[in-house]
Amino acid sequence: MSEKILIIGAGQAAAQAVATLKTEGFAGQITVVGDEAFPPYQRPPLSKAYLSGKLERERLFLKPDAFYAEANCELLLGASATAIDRAMKTVALSDGRVLAYDKLLLATGTRVRKIKVPGADLPGVHYLRSIADVDLLRPALAPGKKLAVVGGGYIGLEVAAVAVKLGLEVTVFEALDRLMARAVSPQLSAFYEKEHREASVRFLLETGVQAFDGQESLEAVRAGGQVYPADIALVGIGVVPNVELASAAGLACDDGIVVDTYCTSVSDPAIFAAGDCTRHHGRDGQQIRLECVQNAIDQAKHAALAMVGKSTPYSEVPWFWSDQYDLKMQIAGLARPGDRLVQRGDPANRKFAVFHLRDGKVAAVEAVNAAPEYIVGRKLIAEGTPMTAERLADTSIAMKNIV
Ligand SMILES: Cc1cc2nc3c(=O)[nH]c(=O)nc-3n(C[C@H](O)[C@H](O)[C@H](O)COP(=O)(O)OP(=O)(O)OC[C@H]3O[C@@H](n4cnc5c(N)ncnc54)[C@H](O)[C@@H]3O)c2cc1C
Repeated sequence: MSEKILIIGAGQAAAQAVATLKTEGFAGQITVVGDEAFPPYQRPPLSKAYLSGKLERERLFLKPDAFYAEANCELLLGASATAIDRAMKTVALSDGRVLAYDKLLLATGTRVRKIKVPGADLPGVHYLRSIADVDLLRPALAPGKKLAVVGGGYIGLEVAAVAVKLGLEVTVFEALDRLMARAVSPQLSAFYEKEHREASVRFLLETGVQAFDGQESLEAVRAGGQVYPADIALVGIGVVPNVELASAAGLACDDGIVVDTYCTSVSDPAIFAAGDCTRHHGRDGQQIRLECVQNAIDQAKHAALAMVGKSTPYSEVPWFWSDQYDLKMQIAGLARPGDRLVQRGDPANRKFAVFHLRDGKVAAVEAVNAAPEYIVGRKLIAEGTPMTAERLADTSIAMKNIV
């Protein structure tokens, strides 16, 4: 009997797991169950080129249909997994089917965090996670309309950049005192705020949204005791991992399905997990849950290798990017409070980097339109090369000669 690998969730990690199984010559049967209507697709363009209309839907799909057939992989779309029976090694689906597995990969990703204020269900209040979400939001982004972006994180700011270019009046409401506060240094927050303001985006920092007002649909946002007229709102206040299926099956979860360094669940050797839904040991030993393409791809590779008996530890350097206007932000590594921040280059030139030094080594790099800083910085992190702040800040030394 051929071995059965079942993958729950049809996103970035699922597509990579199938690709790695195919490359490894896995001869058994693969089934991918996804609750969306589409085969695995890339999400990053949803808040960038797909939202702006510059990228067609077909370009979002990660693999052509033939790829799945060649991998002996069946895609069951529009169906969700509702329960795992670990003793029987079966998974029940919403359509009544029950699928058997020898190995199970959970790649269930995350879902948007919903805002809990009065009026949050009014038509005109949008979220952004899926193709379906963009297809609802994009027709509403008409020139002259007032868009309220709730949350000054990556997604909110990427949407703000697209919308202001489309001719909307954009206001960003952010509860904290700076943009992307959980993800980037104060230098990058200040730089991006200035860029957005120059593009006519309006900011209300330290201003939490208290309610959405409207009769039939959204008419205004109430925040900081004031009322701001709005035709559309885009809420981008983070995500929560889809762990309920795993948790109900008794798998250890802690804001993510807990996996070991081989992407095997710590609770069951036949169950693996990869991508946004996992909690794992970061390179610095601390428990972490990452929400990025790199982590989905690399964890899926390691999980697939583990499933075919070729376990290798996951220790890749995390990386991430964000596109806003003509600015390419690239980040590698993991910053921690207490890191020494070293700036290289002048933000006024719209090309600079901030390095995070810890214990005499680069722990993270944030680069804006600065590919050499990003590429070399990522290598310094991976190799743990000793480095000084003075050398990093010295732009008379080319990055390629920094070591
Ligand atoms: C708008 C947007 C922009 C982004 N931009 C960037 C970027 O610039 N750079 C970057 O690195 N990352 C970016 N990301 C994050 C990146 O897309 C994610 O990290 C990545 O998609 C994670 O892949 P995944 O496979 O873990 O989860 P997902 O891609 O979310 O796939 C999980 C799938 O599983 C499905 N599912 C969940 N539960 C079940 C169930 N019980 N049964 C069946 N199916 C289920 C979900 O509906 C989903 O389709 C962005 C994300 C979004 C939403």
